Amino acid sequence: MTRYGGYYGKLLRVNLTTGKIKEESLPEGLAENYIGGRGISSKLLMDEIEAGIDPLGSENKIIFITGPLTGTVVPTTSRLCISAKSPLTNLIGCGFSGGYFGPELKFCGWDGIVIEGKSDKPVYIKVNDDKVQIEDATHLWGKDTFETEDVIKKELGDKRVQVACIGQAGENQVRFACVVHDGHFLVGRRGMGAVMGSKNLKALVVKGTKGIHVASSPDKIWQVYDEILDIMAKNPVVEIFHDHGTASSVALVNELGFMPTRNFQSGFFEKISTVDEKAYFELSLKPFSCWGCPVYCRRYLKGKKVTFSRPEHQTTFALGSLLENADTEEVIRANLLCNRLGLDSISTGGTIAFAMECYQRKILSQKDTDGLALTWGNSQVINELIEMIALRKGFGDILAEGSLRAAQKIGRDSEKYAMQVKGLEVPGYDPRGAKGIGLNYATAPRGADHNDGWTIAEELYVEGVDRLTLEGKGKLTMEIQDKSKAIDSAIFCMFALDFGYTLDFISTSITAITGMKMSPEKILKIGERISNLERLFALREGYRGKKDDTMPSRFIQEELPLGASKGQRLDLETLLRDYYRQRGWDEKGFPTERKLKELGLESYFYLVKSGR
Ligand code: SF4
Repeated sequence: MTRYGGYYGKLLRVNLTTGKIKEESLPEGLAENYIGGRGISSKLLMDEIEAGIDPLGSENKIIFITGPLTGTVVPTTSRLCISAKSPLTNLIGCGFSGGYFGPELKFCGWDGIVIEGKSDKPVYIKVNDDKVQIEDATHLWGKDTFETEDVIKKELGDKRVQVACIGQAGENQVRFACVVHDGHFLVGRRGMGAVMGSKNLKALVVKGTKGIHVASSPDKIWQVYDEILDIMAKNPVVEIFHDHGTASSVALVNELGFMPTRNFQSGFFEKISTVDEKAYFELSLKPFSCWGCPVYCRRYLKGKKVTFSRPEHQTTFALGSLLENADTEEVIRANLLCNRLGLDSISTGGTIAFAMECYQRKILSQKDTDGLALTWGNSQVINELIEMIALRKGFGDILAEGSLRAAQKIGRDSEKYAMQVKGLEVPGYDPRGAKGIGLNYATAPRGADHNDGWTIAEELYVEGVDRLTLEGKGKLTMEIQDKSKAIDSAIFCMFALDFGYTLDFISTSITAITGMKMSPEKILKIGERISNLERLFALREGYRGKKDDTMPSRFIQEELPLGASKGQRLDLETLLRDYYRQRGWDEKGFPTERKLKELGLESYFYLVKSGR
C-alpha cells in the first residue's frame, strides 16, 4: 500500500500470450516524479519496451491507467489514459477519454493495467475488483463498438459495467483506430485501437466496489471542490462550453481565418454557418456529462436523418470544412460512423482530405479509387471511404495506413499534400493563423497534437496575446506543453486550460488528495520531465531532433489566401530557435546533459549521444 492518498500503489499485469495475471507494486518514485496517467505510462513504456519494436507486434504493451485524482470528488477528473507505442507515429501513443470508465477502473483497486503479449484468439479482459478473467470474444469479433458494448452488458446481465472496446477498424489494425467507451467517449488519436486489435483484445470491462483513500480531511477536500466551482462560476467559458462544447470555437476560428478548409488550401470556409455551433444547437436534445462533472459540455442532437452527440470542434473541421462537407447532418452521420467503426475522426478526415487533394490534382483517378470520384464535399463518398478504411477494403486499405504512409505508397510527389507531422494528421487550427500552435505541432512529442500544448487557450482568449506574432511563442508553447503533461498525469480534463485552472489550484488539489507536497514549481518541473522523457523516446525511435521538427511545406511556403489571416505563413526556423533556447536544448533540438541532469533523466543521455 502506498503512503499517498489517491493511489492504491499497485498495478495489474496481464500477459495475453501466457494467460498469466499478476499484481505488482507501483515502482518506487513514480508517483513523486511522474504523478500518474501520462507521466507514469510514458516512463513504463520507456523502460519496459525495446527500441524499434513493431507497435503492432506482441512486444508492444498497452497500458490503461488513471491518475491520483480520478474517481475523487474533484470535478473534471474522470479521465482514463491509454498508452502504447503508436503504430501511426512510432512515438508515445497516449490518449485520454472522459466518461465513466476511468473512475470505475479506479474503484477496482488498481492504479493501472499493463497488458502485454498477444492472444491466439479474440478475447476480452474482465476486471471485477481483484477478480480478473480473460474471456473468449470470438463471437464479438466483427461487431462495431456499439454492438460490442451491448452484447457484453447483456451477457453479463449488468448495465453498470464499463466497457472500452474496439470496432472493425481496430480489428483490422487501421493505424488510427481508436478505443471507444459508451459510444461517445474515445481515446482517439495514434491508433491505440489498432494495438488492441494486434493483440486480439476486443475489450476491457471493469466494475469496482472499492473506495479511495485521500490524504486530507473531508473539510479540506470539500474546500477544493468549492474552489473549483468558484473558478467555474467566474469563468464565462464554462457556460459557453455547457451550451456549445468545443464546437463553440468553430465560427470564431473561421472568422479569424484559420479554420482548415479543403485540406488546408484555405483557412476560411464560406459555408461554415451550416456546421457551426448554432447549426448544431438547433438540433439540441439535451446535454450530458462525464462522471462527476458539473459542466455538461456534451449534447445529444436529433436531426431528420440522424440522432447522435454533437461533433467536437476537431470533428467538425476534420469531417466538415477540411472536406468541404457543409451538411450538418452528414457531418454528424460521419462522426457516428467513425465512433461505431472505431476510427479517430481527425486522422480519418485528414487522410481522406489528402486523397481528395490528390484527386483534385490528378495524382489519383477513379482507376485508383475503386471508381469513386473524390470530389470535395461529396458526403456519400466520404461515408463510403470511412467504411472502406475501417474494413481495409480496396483503396481504403491504402488510406488505413494514414496520410504519410499512403503518400509514400502512392508516390508521384503526393507527400506534400499529406498534412501531418511525424505521421500524425494536423488538427483543426491552421498554424499560419496562430503561430504558437504551429510551434507546438512541430515539437510535440506525440506528433501534431493540439492537446500537447494548446496555445489556442491563450492565443485566442487571453487579451494581449497576439496569435500572429512570433515573439514570446517559444516560452508560451513550452510552458503550456509542460502544464499539459501535468494535467494529463493528475488527470484533469484538458478543458481545465479553458476554465482557467491555475498552477496554484492544480497544486492545491493534488496536494490535498495525495498528501505529497506539490508546489506549482514542482508540478511544472514534473511536466518538463515528462516532455523531455517523451522527447528521448522519440530520439530512441530514430527521430533526429530539429531535422524532424518539420511541418508540411504548405504552411511555410504558401500564404493563406483568404479571410482575416490572409497573407500569413509560418516562420518555423525562428520559432524553433526560440523554443530550443527556452527548453535548454542545443540548436539541433537535442536535450543537453545539463538539462537532463536537472530533471533526473541523465541515465538516458546516451540516447542523445547516439541520436546526434
Ligand atoms: S468539461 Fe466536458 S469533457 Fe471535460 S470532464 Fe466535464 S463533461 Fe467531460
